[in-house]
Amino acid sequence: MDRLKMPFENTDLLAIEGGNPVRESFLSLAPPSIDGDEIDEVVDTLKSGWLSTGPKTMRFEEEFAKYVGAKYAISVNSCTAGLHLSLVVSGIGAGDEVIVTPLTFCASANVIEHVNARPVFVDIDPSTLNMSPAAIEAAITPRTRGIIAVHYGGLACDMDEIHQICNKHGLTVIEDAAHAISTKYKGRMVGSISPLTSFSFYANKNLTTGEGGMITTDDAGLADKLLVYRLHGLGRDAWQRFTSRRYVPAEVVYAGYKYNMTDIQASLGLHQLRKQESLLVRRYEAAKVYDEAFSTVDYLRTQPHPNDEIDRHAMHLYVLIFDMDQFSVSRNQILEALMAENIGVSLHYRSLHTNPFYRDKYGYKPEDYPVAYRTGEQILSLPMSPRLTIEDARDVVKAVHKVIRHYRTCV
Ligand SMILES: *Cc1c(COP(=O)(O)O)cnc(C)c1O
Repeated sequence: MDRLKMPFENTDLLAIEGGNPVRESFLSLAPPSIDGDEIDEVVDTLKSGWLSTGPKTMRFEEEFAKYVGAKYAISVNSCTAGLHLSLVVSGIGAGDEVIVTPLTFCASANVIEHVNARPVFVDIDPSTLNMSPAAIEAAITPRTRGIIAVHYGGLACDMDEIHQICNKHGLTVIEDAAHAISTKYKGRMVGSISPLTSFSFYANKNLTTGEGGMITTDDAGLADKLLVYRLHGLGRDAWQRFTSRRYVPAEVVYAGYKYNMTDIQASLGLHQLRKQESLLVRRYEAAKVYDEAFSTVDYLRTQPHPNDEIDRHAMHLYVLIFDMDQFSVSRNQILEALMAENIGVSLHYRSLHTNPFYRDKYGYKPEDYPVAYRTGEQILSLPMSPRLTIEDARDVVKAVHKVIRHYRTCV
């Protein structure tokens, strides 16, 4: 026997234990998809002499409103700012309670703290990973004023049921659509369903402007307030002030915020928006490779991801849900082993009620929201972006199989 061949017999040794990684180069979780159109538009803006909120921001808002089917779209500098302003213009403040899922990015709940209201978590549905409508009703008190509905991963919450509950109790519905640009719910685009919806254009989101966000609404009164609050509370938009040929005095009507978007950001957004449908097709091509590999593995689950005219998951996250009873190690160890194979996996999210701020302020125990807690210990997000090739997706599959084969208890 040729002893030199020994290393090849050991290719199944995990990289984390000294073996060869599945990939030579690191595969990023969600790199942005930027090309010449965006770059040329940014350069055009830089040369135009108008850098902050201006004509391109207004055009981006108009095109965005049309895409999601809303009357108004008000751009901001982040989804977090959009959620904060949504609470402010809804008149939610000290002493109020707002219901939110614990399985989300911290911003969904932090903004409730920003207006001195109390975030009230409700548990999730173990299959959709969205807030369970049945749990909402049980959490309503005389102080409850609103709900922030987060479309986890890009799968719409059951909005009909949420609206029915909110109408019955007189609650405001705000959607956190950070994952949900191009999500459809019963034939409607997210952004056209509730009084206020906030989108994120952060660098890893389906549509990116580097940093940025958008609020959509059909309510002219709310739209007007949002425009004023997003720019210092000045009674007139800077763009109107600076393009008007006559002097327009600006008056402070609210103690507003500095949340406006720039034309540099909008330059990216205009082109990202026009490509959303084709970028989504590319996401689904990668998702198909994952589906084919994992749908038959009985200790792995995924979120439902419908993709038709009626219901559409935006495929922001492709999440694997592990049956941890079948493994000899924790999810964190599986995650680390995959990283060592040069696969950029991530966790979205550890349940918020177990994070120090919320745990300590409200005295939460992990088992207060058992499904969100357990889910937070058994999920993992695979690389997902329009730049993920079929070959890349196959590398991910290979690495997942390699790692789970190694860590299964009963093989
Ligand atoms: C990214 C994200 C946000 C925050 O978006 P920013 O634009 O970075 O403020 C809020 N909620 C969820 C669910 C997110 O994933």
